[in-house]
Amino acid sequence: MTKEKLALEIIGRLKEEYPDAGCTLDYDQAWKLLVSVRLAAQCTDARVNVVVEDLYDKYPDVDALAEAEAEDIEKIVRPCGLGKSKARDISACMKILKEKYGGKVPKDFDALLKLPGVGRKSANLIMGDVFQEPAIVTDTHCIRLVNRMGLVDGIKEPKKVEMALWKIIPPEEGSDFCHRLVYHGRDVCTARTKPYCDTCCLRDICAKNGVE
Ligand code: SF4
Repeated sequence: MTKEKLALEIIGRLKEEYPDAGCTLDYDQAWKLLVSVRLAAQCTDARVNVVVEDLYDKYPDVDALAEAEAEDIEKIVRPCGLGKSKARDISACMKILKEKYGGKVPKDFDALLKLPGVGRKSANLIMGDVFQEPAIVTDTHCIRLVNRMGLVDGIKEPKKVEMALWKIIPPEEGSDFCHRLVYHGRDVCTARTKPYCDTCCLRDICAKNGVE
């Protein structure tokens, strides 16, 4: 089977398995996803979702957060780890949104990439989730799973994985596909235990099934 065909088959099966899979970070406005995705580095989405409640109670909009001292942001976001650098990035990012984009998140991949603390993974997440544009989010689950499945061969560097997937994933499927990889990676194709290949919906087409 070609990688393109394998990708389509996997996309179809994961759609059936996780029909409602979406972003696991809670947000109701674009700028909040920008904040959450920065906090999610080396932290669980569940913890981020709790911590941001306090943050938004105190700073309910872009202007309020842009005017906050980074030290005060840090006091709230510290439970997410890397508090100092995350607070510094969030502060700088909100200032740019306020001063350059009228408080809005730019619908432009390259502009997103220029924001403090925003890398390709985050910019793709914003493009896909906020703007419903084609996106490939190469987080740790995505990289592990697409290697195991045989969609890429031994590629671990996130940008290289992203570029390889762009060639075989229909653009309109990318964002949801990556969300479903997160669900599958947490529940079945796990990182810390042996993957549960026996119960996996991809067991007959996955490159790794049965291979130690
Ligand atoms: S068959 Fe096993 S290795 Fe392949 S995707 Fe399923 S759980 Fe992961």
